[in-house]
Amino acid sequence: MSFTDLGLSEAVLQAVTESGYENPTPIQAKAIPLILEGKDVIGASQTGTGKTAAFALPSLSKIKPLGKPQILVLEPTRELAHQVAEQFEHYGKHTGCKVALLHGGVGYGRQDEQMKVADIVVATPGRLIDHFYRATMRFGKIEILILDEVDRMLDMGFLPIVRKIVSLCPWNTEETSRQTLFFSATMPPAIQGFAQWCLKDPEEVEI
Ligand code: AMP
Repeated sequence: MSFTDLGLSEAVLQAVTESGYENPTPIQAKAIPLILEGKDVIGASQTGTGKTAAFALPSLSKIKPLGKPQILVLEPTRELAHQVAEQFEHYGKHTGCKVALLHGGVGYGRQDEQMKVADIVVATPGRLIDHFYRATMRFGKIEILILDEVDRMLDMGFLPIVRKIVSLCPWNTEETSRQTLFFSATMPPAIQGFAQWCLKDPEEVEI
């Protein structure tokens, strides 16, 4: 299996080629075609498996630069949000899509500027909600919601705020379609219950 067989956009494939990756990792080979088809995905996967590219490459292949948030990625920590935003920037560098990185502990100036043009928002939950209340974050055009490291977000007490964020995104109805990608290293019952609420007919990807 090579990256060219997976159905990624030309712009994304070019960035993959420049990264020097030869072949997709197992989670990438499984998840990328499902995500491109529009399926909701639930993945039990650790970092270090190529998980970030598994969701970033197909998501980036599905959007066009609009200057409005279409992809939303939630991360439990500032460090993870940084790493994931960098990967979206790297894999999306030929797409024209712009990334905003939102987390606490810093001022709003740079984040507000990024939000004026962002197609992709990578955020920690608390700061994202702050941007919603400040009206710098709008959820109406979100097509792909990515919940990453859900077990860690729940351990950190983010469940109520993550639920609120999910409910602010468009629902998967006849008029709107929201695709949701859900990743957690562990899947205890509380997380399975939360996943059922967020996801529609999900495909499971486990490695
Ligand atoms: P992650 O699991 O997302 O933290 O990724 C782990 C590392 O693997 C990152 O540094 C990626 O740049 C790298 N990586 C992702 N996909 C591939 C691939 N198909 N081939 C080689 N390296 C990769």
